[in-house]
Amino acid sequence: MTATDAFVGLGSNMADPSAQLAGAVARLAALPGTTLLAQSPFYRSKPVGPQDQPDFVNGVVWLSTELTALELLDQLQAIEQAHGRERTQHWGPRTLDLDLLLYGDETISEERLTVPHAELANRDFVLQPLLDLDPHRRLPDGRSLAHLRQHCPDNSLQKLNPVARTPFPPG
Ligand code: AMP
Repeated sequence: MTATDAFVGLGSNMADPSAQLAGAVARLAALPGTTLLAQSPFYRSKPVGPQDQPDFVNGVVWLSTELTALELLDQLQAIEQAHGRERTQHWGPRTLDLDLLLYGDETISEERLTVPHAELANRDFVLQPLLDLDPHRRLPDGRSLAHLRQHCPDNSLQKLNPVARTPFPPG
């Protein structure tokens, strides 16, 4: 079966976000028919919307996968579920957000899935790690990610080192 390059965005602002992302990367690497090609640095970003919540940690992984786009979405949602609920009697807030950013050169517009991700061009915490992985990447419509990044709102990105695990919150 043919493999397709897919880029997945990861975000978390709860329950040790860097550890959430590291765990999610391990699960993504273990998906059936899937190889982890590269992992971006993690970045700290200010929340979009309400500011009375912790900063986010974001990153992107580059996969090669034999899964269809919808099969990959199912797997992303299963990983979110595995990470995403507090172990209390009520459903808790999500601790992990996984987005299918790009799936080969495909443009997908289905009820459950929009690819490229609808907010990709507006989010520096997605564009910057994508550019770290592939500076020459373009959207299916030909627009370059580098060009989009130049015109994207700045959200005070801060690169986190080391990638795997950083104390959170700082200090
Ligand atoms: P959110 O939790 O805000 O990321 O939204 C999740 C919902 O977005 C789910 O119902 C998905 O079916 C839908 N969705 C549409 N396109 C995408 C995509 N490219 N990646 C992840 N979820 C998507």
